[in-house]
Amino acid sequence: MSSTLDFEITLTERPTPAADREAILADPGWGMHFTDHMITIRYQEGKGWYDARLEPYGPIPMDPASQVLHYSQELFEGLKAYRQADGSIVTFRPYANAARMNRSAQRMAMPQIPEQLFVDALELLVGTDKDWVPGKEGQSLYLRPFMFATTRALGVNRPADEFLFMVIASPSGLYYPRGIKPVSVWLSQDYVRAAPGGTGEAKTGGNYAASFAGQAEAVANGCDQVVWLDAHEHRWVEEVGSMNLIFVYGEGSSARLLTPALNGALLAGITRDSMLKLAPDLGIPVEEGKISIEEWQEGCESGAISEVFGCGTAAIISPVGRAKGTDREWTIGTGEPGPVSMRLREELIGIQYGTKPDPYGWVH
Ligand code: PMP
Repeated sequence: MSSTLDFEITLTERPTPAADREAILADPGWGMHFTDHMITIRYQEGKGWYDARLEPYGPIPMDPASQVLHYSQELFEGLKAYRQADGSIVTFRPYANAARMNRSAQRMAMPQIPEQLFVDALELLVGTDKDWVPGKEGQSLYLRPFMFATTRALGVNRPADEFLFMVIASPSGLYYPRGIKPVSVWLSQDYVRAAPGGTGEAKTGGNYAASFAGQAEAVANGCDQVVWLDAHEHRWVEEVGSMNLIFVYGEGSSARLLTPALNGALLAGITRDSMLKLAPDLGIPVEEGKISIEEWQEGCESGAISEVFGCGTAAIISPVGRAKGTDREWTIGTGEPGPVSMRLREELIGIQYGTKPDPYGWVH
């Protein structure tokens, strides 16, 4: 393993007993259990990245004046490790996550991390905690790299100059343990996730903190997830929950996809990007453009739009069955998962689990 830094390795003296680990892997849920180790790498302005470690998973000492606790200079990533039929383990497009982390870092006035160091850190953690990568269909080990400002200072007139990069890992189960069920979505008029020039395209914690009230409003209105509309007119569709949205026009051999273009307010999802590359190779043309809530509703009512789905690392594809706003409500297609969504899902999952060829070089 070539790396820009040598990792100091300290293995836990109290690994989770195999029986306990197996019990967790039998039904891991999502984001509730963590593996035995974690990665920490420090950064200081002028010195660069240093003190790379693999150590037992556990609490980290924090100064109460750490900048992140006050001004949220933070960012994170999310990707998964998948166990293949032959027992080996792959990750999916980790360099794409490294590149996105560095784009987020640029926006958040945080340091760039060498892509190879990012990937080496993932490899070391997954390799050390390999027994935590579940083997059942649909299961995976979710990897959470993140970085935050540790500078001890309350001044807001300059960004921090000391940071901690970490990686933790969490076994994850089937996103839809009882089969894929379409979600209902709430069109948020009161809350906005992101505005052009803001931080929407950065994967920073503040965007998610700002989304909880909108998500709570969706639930209060009987919906599963919130659809984010543009900040200016509140009518152009941007994202759903923490997924990108894809609209299927037409059916069968005339199906084509439309997804909101990346306008600075949307997160550039790696699943979205994978869909945009995969679909044309399956004979499904794709377009990046704009769609309003009126066009969405009319398209469903006229039958022009046959399916709509959210896409992201966690669920891969999440069909949308029903949309609701303060003054409107409609069903998408039959309200059930559609054939185009399911075909794309199957193709991508096939590449991730090694049951389909990977002509794109996505698995690592
Ligand atoms: N949009 C938002 C706001 C997200 O948090 C995510 C999850 N990272 C996505 C889209 C989907 O991105 P990806 O396909 O890389 O998981």
